[in-house]
Amino acid sequence: MARHTEDNRVDKTLRMLSLNREAPKSAFVLLLVLFAISIFLTSRIATSEDTTYLFGIPFANKSFAGIFSMMGNICLICLAMLFRKTGYFTALALLALQFPLMYVNIIVRKNYTNIPGLFNNILILIAITFIFFGNRRIQDYQNHIREQAVTDRLTGLPNRFACNELMQDLLWRTERFAVVSADLNNFKSINDTMGHDTGDNVLKEIAKRWKALANSLTTGTIDFVARITGDEFFLILTGYDSEEDVLNTIEAYKEELEKKITIDDCDYYMTACFGYSMCPEDSDVIDNLFSFSDAALHEVKKNGSGSRILRFTMDVLNSENALEIERKIRSALTNGKIFYHLQPQYDMDHKLRGFEALARMKDENGSLISPMDFIPVAEKTGLVDRIDMHVFELAVQFLDNVINETGADITLSANVSVRHLMKNNFTEDLKKVLDKYNVSPERIEIEITESIMIDSAEKALQRIDELKQLGMKVAIDDFGTGYSSLSYLNNFPTDMLKIDKSFIDNMNLNESSKQYVAMIISIGHTLDLKVISEGVESADQVKVLKDIGCDYIQGYVWGKPMLPEEAFELVGSCK
Ligand code: C2E
Ligand code: MG
Ligand code: MG
Repeated sequence: MARHTEDNRVDKTLRMLSLNREAPKSAFVLLLVLFAISIFLTSRIATSEDTTYLFGIPFANKSFAGIFSMMGNICLICLAMLFRKTGYFTALALLALQFPLMYVNIIVRKNYTNIPGLFNNILILIAITFIFFGNRRIQDYQNHIREQAVTDRLTGLPNRFACNELMQDLLWRTERFAVVSADLNNFKSINDTMGHDTGDNVLKEIAKRWKALANSLTTGTIDFVARITGDEFFLILTGYDSEEDVLNTIEAYKEELEKKITIDDCDYYMTACFGYSMCPEDSDVIDNLFSFSDAALHEVKKNGSGSRILRFTMDVLNSENALEIERKIRSALTNGKIFYHLQPQYDMDHKLRGFEALARMKDENGSLISPMDFIPVAEKTGLVDRIDMHVFELAVQFLDNVINETGADITLSANVSVRHLMKNNFTEDLKKVLDKYNVSPERIEIEITESIMIDSAEKALQRIDELKQLGMKVAIDDFGTGYSSLSYLNNFPTDMLKIDKSFIDNMNLNESSKQYVAMIISIGHTLDLKVISEGVESADQVKVLKDIGCDYIQGYVWGKPMLPEEAFELVGSCK
């Protein structure tokens, strides 16, 4: 049966990986050539009666023979050291070839100058024999250590390190391959209910079956099976024509796994999920291929039980990223790593109007994560209201302090997400914070985005009414980027339009963009709304905005988002 074939892919590759690589063949040829040259020169010079002058000193040519003979010997030693068995036997053969010549010279021609050479050769013979046997012991030991390093102890399958090596090899040979991450379903429950020994036996049985399947060469692809850790296995597939072949092979492993496993008279039915990525289509970087197939595996595991197979796509990675960011948000919320910056807003005479509070978040390593990355994830996962409220409370506390200390007449703008705004106790929560710090609602401006108008206009209107009744102001953030409709502007009792940075960026580049901004400002004024321009970065933009009647400015030109302490100082210096 093919199962017992000599062509045992897993074992063969493992053996190949276990062996330390020899020096390149070119070095072998070079040593042979050097040896031949040395011997030729030695024999030519040894019989020469000529003299060579070096730096004016006469040297008999014969005296150089020893040097070339030594060079030849060094070549033999290098052969034995660098090329193990082949090197040793080649060196032996080369030495053996010299003995008849010496015999003829010494015994027949009575040329006794060859006697030291004979001793020399005997000593080299002893030396290379020592090197060979010494080397073999070290090599055996090294191979043993290396074999352990590439083998998983429990199952005897190759491990992650071996996969790494094989993938490097395949990349080097520019062979295409697929990597498959497999994770058993509910394996933990076997460990928990039947004990770790049974769990280990199940893993061994699966390893045995999958290894046999790989070695049987019946899947249509050339497969390499490894165990990574716990109940995670890994396949590297080569020799396929299309992705369909890859899928068929994974199906074959799935089927093999799902056959009944009997251990100590108990039957187990195992299933697994598989995620795979392909080289070079998905990536040709080993780490990426590992993490892409893992990402596909996690995605497929997340979506329920049973056996399933999923190919990696960029969507999978995005959702993995989102998961990671979600984890970071949760950790930041519990560890107080969510904080805020304040960006100043000015009127056109450069008089401070107030600040916009902007959320900031650091991960466990202290790196800042942009709100552009974490706010959308927080919105999707329902964590955004906690962020909004946290930032709101800190900023209101700041406002209370700064007003008490400086008596400044300033406002605070706070961002709220649509999802948060729709919550029933939204207005109540804001009011509680304002009451706690005794801050007047007139100083607060709530920024909402246009999307609210399409998502749930009715409820949004109710919320805006509630906010207005409390005395707060409402601003439409990023105005112009969403589904702007003049009719909703007329219906919603807002106070301020915030023109999005993208319009301000283009304003001085062409006349039509400038006219567009001018039009927004004039519509705002017609509806009795104030207008603030966001993302203003240059004095030229300020000038144009003044000319076309904008009311307020927020942008790097007059102030970047800053720490509350800096904002405090700024208020003090503006008095
Ligand atoms: P946004 O509310 O439109 O805030 C303005 C964004 O523009 C801020 O980015 C600000 O730093 C940036 N900005 C202001 N002036 C300039 C400028 O002159 N040049 C440039 N290049 N950028 C400028 P940030 O802080 O990264 O915030 C991004 C978005 O995240 C905010 O846009 C807002 O939609 C959201 N966000 C921030 N904090 C919160 C929060 O506490 N809750 C909620 N729900 N969303 C928040
Ligand atoms: Mg805003
Ligand atoms: Mg904005």
